[in-house]
Amino acid sequence: MKNKTLSLVVPCYNEEANVHAFYEAVVKAFDGKIDSYELVFVNDGSRDNTWAELKKLHAENKNVKILNFSRNFGKEAAMFAGLHKVTGDYVTIIDADLQQRPELVVEMVNFLEENPDYDSVAMFQEDRNEGKVLSFFKKSFYRLINSMCEIDFRSGASDFRTFRRYVVDAVLEMKEYFRFSKGIFSWVGFNTYFMPYTAEERQAGQTSWSFKKLLKYAIEGITAFTTVPLKISAYIGGACSAFSLIYMLVVLIQKLFFGIDIPGYATTIVLILLIGGIQLLALGVMGQYISKIYIEGKNRPIFIVKEYCDKDNED
Ligand code: UDP
Ligand code: MG
Repeated sequence: MKNKTLSLVVPCYNEEANVHAFYEAVVKAFDGKIDSYELVFVNDGSRDNTWAELKKLHAENKNVKILNFSRNFGKEAAMFAGLHKVTGDYVTIIDADLQQRPELVVEMVNFLEENPDYDSVAMFQEDRNEGKVLSFFKKSFYRLINSMCEIDFRSGASDFRTFRRYVVDAVLEMKEYFRFSKGIFSWVGFNTYFMPYTAEERQAGQTSWSFKKLLKYAIEGITAFTTVPLKISAYIGGACSAFSLIYMLVVLIQKLFFGIDIPGYATTIVLILLIGGIQLLALGVMGQYISKIYIEGKNRPIFIVKEYCDKDNED
């Protein structure tokens, strides 16, 4: 890597016990392999002493840029903010909890050095160290989203990736409030190589992903990248209307020509409930999109910076 710089973007939320160990691991892994690099830590409104730990790192090494959010805005916002501050020719997004080993960054950078045709390397997990149920839901999510979207989502792909400067510029162009990185990286295109890896156990602290949060993230991913659910509700509506029209004709003919009374209490109740349910579902789907338009329409900032320190800035 001659005359080239690497920037690491590291989102941190309650990582006081990890950031220093992470920094040391990076220094060790890059020693003699990558000589010019900077670290951009984004403190995403941690409730612990992460910011104080980051300030220590910055005091130790001026190539450590640190950015403090005014509150917790989420990992997506933290990654986006970090990308605004990078100056490297290569940029890597990596977690602070050492689940993603810095040695792998060297591998990704080497790959890009040796393969000028590729613009980006994304790490993906072949086998996950997690429960069967969660794994099943994650796989189903990818199957669902891939069947609905034109762009391709790779199952198991993480935010752990390295890419060239112009990919950063493309991602920074995507200023939407509801950010879904996996989709954003597919959407901007470029030639991406998927490299398999195995995530380590978390060094310290806790994962901030509950099942509920994951589900919300999945729905956000789908609504951010496809309007197929709207089409599906329209199709269901169309099918129901067609069916009821035919059924109406049948009932009318039976009544008018054959004088048959249809004993219909149960049928009526079931149909009312069914149609009512479908209508509410369709409204709910529409509501998801409208609420996104509502928030997006306010044009609020994706993150708010409280403090930022780098070589030339000490505030
Ligand atoms: N993170 C963040 N903001 C959040 C949640 C997480 O910046 O609101 C960071 C976190 O500090 C870590 C990375 O995102 O560096 C991945 O988070 P975590 O380890 O909780 O997720 P997992 O590895 O379980 O997918
Ligand atoms: Mg983690």
